[in-house]
Amino acid sequence: VIDLNTKKIGILGAGQLGRMFALASANLGIHPYFLDKQSDFPAGLISHQITEGDFTNYDDVLSFGLDKDILTIEIENVNTDALLTLEEKGVQIYPQANIIELIKDKGKQKQFYKENHFPSSKFILYENKIEVLKDLENGSIYFPFVQKLRTEGYDGKGVLVVKSQADSDQLFDKPSVIEELVDIDKELAVIVARNKKGETNSFPVVEMVFDPIANLVDYLKYPANLQNQIKEKCRSIADQMAQKIDLIGILAIEFFLTKSGELLINEMAPRTHNSGHFSMDACITSQFEQHLRAICDLPLGSTEANTPCIMLNILGPNDYVGPAKYPWLPEILKIKGVKPHIYGKKTSKPYRKLGHINIIHQNDLSLVTNLNKVKSIIKNET
Ligand code: ADP
Repeated sequence: VIDLNTKKIGILGAGQLGRMFALASANLGIHPYFLDKQSDFPAGLISHQITEGDFTNYDDVLSFGLDKDILTIEIENVNTDALLTLEEKGVQIYPQANIIELIKDKGKQKQFYKENHFPSSKFILYENKIEVLKDLENGSIYFPFVQKLRTEGYDGKGVLVVKSQADSDQLFDKPSVIEELVDIDKELAVIVARNKKGETNSFPVVEMVFDPIANLVDYLKYPANLQNQIKEKCRSIADQMAQKIDLIGILAIEFFLTKSGELLINEMAPRTHNSGHFSMDACITSQFEQHLRAICDLPLGSTEANTPCIMLNILGPNDYVGPAKYPWLPEILKIKGVKPHIYGKKTSKPYRKLGHINIIHQNDLSLVTNLNKVKSIIKNET
């Protein structure tokens, strides 16, 4: 167990996830240090302990990490070579550098699922566009399919649904995974935490509802409208995965439930995740507190939910670039059970995540009514 008063915890990334991690940590008397490009990023607005630097750069990560006891992440696209060096020097890196290395590459993820018999859609790896076109021509792959960049994609950027020959002009000319297009009934997510003792604890399953245009989560709901048996299966796969990769920290797993009832892993992220934001207002322990508990070798908290909850992402309007504004905030605060979490980003861009709103209500129907109220207020006042 670490001495929480003297140990230094560093986090790579000072976006919204880092900010919410800092807020949860502060309640336990812990004040993390940040590394990111600008000190006015979301976490930098609530902490002066921020170093300006690039978390994808070896030297920046190394020099930031050297005087830390524990280093963690809010994004997986970090310099893992530096993390491996820091691990050798005795800095505790959670999640471990090899886990980050596995997960930041969607190709390696898919290979890992296959080798370890975790259910996931069929796939082939490609180096470039010419290879993909060649396989299309010789019939090894066929429309429709999904192409994903192996690295650096996020929030649906780097994912291309290729329906017909007409779409093939847009194919990425970079290392990619080609997957079969899954006939999706529902998209589900589970967050699991595991500590050094090997104890795991997962959060309840949530259902993601997508905005078809932005290809981004519109809102997410707990409880998921789903048979218990499937919920248990999601949580059991999450526990098995945490054990299999020897996770210390937190892991989010996104699933597809197919129309024929098959459960497939879409992808995972070894960090706090958008799909766990409902826990901030609906569960006994939030995902951010759980992350801290897991990496500090503290007892894991109860993940039990106290209330149904809908989490609505606040995205930048699609026709506006400029200072982020929230003119609708006073109006939505009139509604009972509406809990906004604004990230403090300076600039609004189309579909950029600017915040989220948790809506809680004991009654499922009122929850949806309040969601619709919030959405229409935001729409009318933006
Ligand atoms: P990101 O990491 O950018 O969130 P994902 O891999 O989760 O990217 O893909 C984004 C979305 O695209 C998914 O949530 C899903 O709606 C759709 N999608 C991804 N892969 C497939 C697939 N194989 N079949 C059908 N839809 C898919």
